[in-house]
Amino acid sequence: MADLDIWDRQAFEARLVEIDDVEVCAELCCAYFVAQGYQRVSVYLLRSGLLRRVASVGYWQVFDGFPLVEDTLDLTRSEARRDASEWWQGRETSSPIFADGEFIGALDVEAEGSIDAALRNEMSEVGKLLGLRVTELGGLKDPSGWKLLADNAPIFANTVNEPRAIRNALEVATALTGLDSAMFVADLPGGAFTPADSMGPTSNLLTALPMETLAVLSSWVQGPRSCYTVGDPTAIGSEGYEVLADAGLSSLAVSAVDAADSRLGFLLVGSTTAELNDHHQVEQLEVLAALLGSAIRNSRHLGELLSQTRRDPLTGLGHSQAFDEKLSSIRHNQETLNAVFMIDIDHFKLVNDTLGHDEGDRQLKAVAAGLRSALRDDDSVFRIGGDEFAVVVPVDDELQARAIGERIMQAVTESGQKVSVGGAFAFSDDIGHRDVFVRADEALYLAKRRGRNQLVMTEEIGIN
Ligand code: GH3
Ligand code: MG
Repeated sequence: MADLDIWDRQAFEARLVEIDDVEVCAELCCAYFVAQGYQRVSVYLLRSGLLRRVASVGYWQVFDGFPLVEDTLDLTRSEARRDASEWWQGRETSSPIFADGEFIGALDVEAEGSIDAALRNEMSEVGKLLGLRVTELGGLKDPSGWKLLADNAPIFANTVNEPRAIRNALEVATALTGLDSAMFVADLPGGAFTPADSMGPTSNLLTALPMETLAVLSSWVQGPRSCYTVGDPTAIGSEGYEVLADAGLSSLAVSAVDAADSRLGFLLVGSTTAELNDHHQVEQLEVLAALLGSAIRNSRHLGELLSQTRRDPLTGLGHSQAFDEKLSSIRHNQETLNAVFMIDIDHFKLVNDTLGHDEGDRQLKAVAAGLRSALRDDDSVFRIGGDEFAVVVPVDDELQARAIGERIMQAVTESGQKVSVGGAFAFSDDIGHRDVFVRADEALYLAKRRGRNQLVMTEEIGIN
């Protein structure tokens, strides 16, 4: 700590206004409290939502990266307040620092004896002076690119929400490069591309780029990781650049977003006004693209796994547990009338016995496809047992329910099988969510007994 040898408040204040570096100002604050006889002092400043240590004295090790806990710091007042933790009561206190009315950090002092009003007052005063100096110096600086990446890496590592990861990447990309607009273009099967998200004033221009241009941009980063303008508007670019130059882009950087061996898309940052003049920023953009790639891959993998655990592997329909959850959810939504159909293939054993199990499987898949095509919402069809299916649909009235039941039978017949169907309505006074299932199953049983290949609705048979 060079040349921070100050003894009294006057010297501290005189020195503070000479220092142009916020971190050195923070060191000066520590030095001041040391001069007042305190051994352990630190200053934490806010960066990317966490309090990061910028200066400290008297510690063998420090703790860094605190989330904001309002118990410890009263962010509404600039006065020092006692630490909430019991152990430190009366031994350590923190005082929030504000610059231009914004909370920017905290001053922390640990005392051998007890914390008294005089120390608190002194901390508040010093905190205010530091805040004032930070304001004079133009506020806290935006973190450097690498720090920004470091701050955001845990967010990408922990998210399983693809849209949120993409949005975050766009925000970090613009902050990293100083360019005002960003877009993530996702690769689609069959060599197509789609802008998945975009932001900034040039956003409309970027998302309106034709598919051929997106394909060209993507091809620029097929081998290399990135491609960017180097600030000469009169120079020529590689294939396809004219569209972008003509659209008024003065600068852009494109970075490939890959996961393992597959291409997920590319990240583009651009501006019609600002220049990109630091190639380190592009290297940071590549790191960001790698973080985004892994976040997207994690999100997709988890999504696939969750969906697989809810689906019957043979037909891809929801299985009995998903059906049970659906029944539960409609019971809690009593605003709509819901019909539940139980569907069982007639004499399905015969198919297996005469044509073999593989053919039986093929027929089950055909029935599933038939049911899917008969209903608007894929998620309302379930395979709940061997040759037993269920459908849950919102309906206006009994007439419409019967019509849907008939449609189900028709669709299955077209797929090559005959079915018996039992239909029932979910009622608000049902005691359990499976009550409707029991009624529909009774109707199905009756349909079988009456000779199969027919629909029976509960209201016809008095088991409402
Ligand atoms: P019913 O008209 O009374 O329904 O007669 P059914 O022959 O269809 O009798 P049931 O519904 O009790 O039998 C269902 C048959 O479905 C029994 C079994 O051989 C067959 N099955 C169950 N699961 C599968 C499967 O995953 N694949 C194949 N191929 N067959 C299955
Ligand atoms: Mg059957």
